[in-house]
Amino acid sequence: MNLEKLFSKHFPSFNFLFNYSLAKKSYFKIGGQAEIFYSAKTRQEAMDLLSFCKEQGVKFTILGGASNVIIADGGLSGLVLSLDFAELKLIEENEQELFYQADAGIKTSYLVSRVANQGGGGLEGFIGVPGVLGGAIYNNAHYLKDLIGDKIYQVEVFDVKNSEIHIFPREKCEFAYEQSVFQKDKNLVIFSAFFALKKSSPDKVKEEVRAAIAKRELTQPLHLPSCGCVFQNPPNTDLLRKLFPQFAHLDFIPAGFLIDQAGMKGARLGDIQVSEKHAAFFVNLGQGQAKDVKKLIEKVKTVVLEKFNVILKEEVFYLS
Ligand SMILES: Cc1cc2nc3c(=O)[nH]c(=O)nc-3n(C[C@H](O)[C@H](O)[C@H](O)COP(=O)(O)OP(=O)(O)OC[C@H]3O[C@@H](n4cnc5c(N)ncnc54)[C@H](O)[C@@H]3O)c2cc1C
Repeated sequence: MNLEKLFSKHFPSFNFLFNYSLAKKSYFKIGGQAEIFYSAKTRQEAMDLLSFCKEQGVKFTILGGASNVIIADGGLSGLVLSLDFAELKLIEENEQELFYQADAGIKTSYLVSRVANQGGGGLEGFIGVPGVLGGAIYNNAHYLKDLIGDKIYQVEVFDVKNSEIHIFPREKCEFAYEQSVFQKDKNLVIFSAFFALKKSSPDKVKEEVRAAIAKRELTQPLHLPSCGCVFQNPPNTDLLRKLFPQFAHLDFIPAGFLIDQAGMKGARLGDIQVSEKHAAFFVNLGQGQAKDVKKLIEKVKTVVLEKFNVILKEEVFYLS
């Protein structure tokens, strides 16, 4: 039985989309079709589908806002599942802190503005991060020195291996710069996260949110499709400290700065370009394809390695 028939037969009330164009959904406007696409409105729908995939040996991919991925031009086989449950609950508060549970499907920027309205501080820098909370936890989203994982005390996870929900305390999430345990085990699907936020005045938090928005608009090419920073900031080295004393105090040096210094700002392959505004961003000028993104990534890595003896690592994730 083909997958379309199999899924339609077992889940007759689900509105699956077959051969659904992922380029439409992706922030970068790149990617082929999903064989089966579904937006789960509840945890139960997601659990039923993921358990079914496991039983039937069907490949599955979780997609958030598709703002940190390079989706293969040939598309994705099996099920592509978007988690669209998106509740935010204030579960407790004391004099210093507000405690929230936020579902994986909530838009990250919306989460930041909702808690800001209630005086929840600490997430302001994440205001312009596109996509949803599940994706932000997966890569441990960062802004300047802030890591989203630092504000989280536990994560609700569905483990597809045994079809069980577990609560992972922060230590088990293995959060570090651009890292989390969820990148190591694809069977771990993030359902929600629990935040402990510093209590502050709503006006003060909202002011910081506005400042973060203004900073992003000034530095990032927000008018073109992209997947944000393509590369992680690499660790600083003795050579880099000598060449760029202005960054000598930093543990990590901005990847965009090195790419610029290597002469690759504005470099173009097909319709993919290293942004003229922020050289760690690649932008899609129209008909960009994943294969061009990959080639341009390799080119930039080679030039930066030759010039500065630095190995750049991708911050984006490949989905194929
Ligand atoms: C203009 C722009 C600005 C950006 N600024 C920042 C920034 O300041 N800081 C930053 O860190 N990033 C930034 N990014 C990158 C990106 O937006 C963030 O990393 C974002 O948090 C990714 O979320 P998403 O929902 O789009 O994830 P997606 O791209 O949909 O997914 C990313 C990965 O997470 C996995 N995943 C998603 N949801 C789940 C889940 N529930 N359970 C398990 N796995 C899951 C996916 O399978 C995929 O491998 C920016 C991107 C753009 C385009």
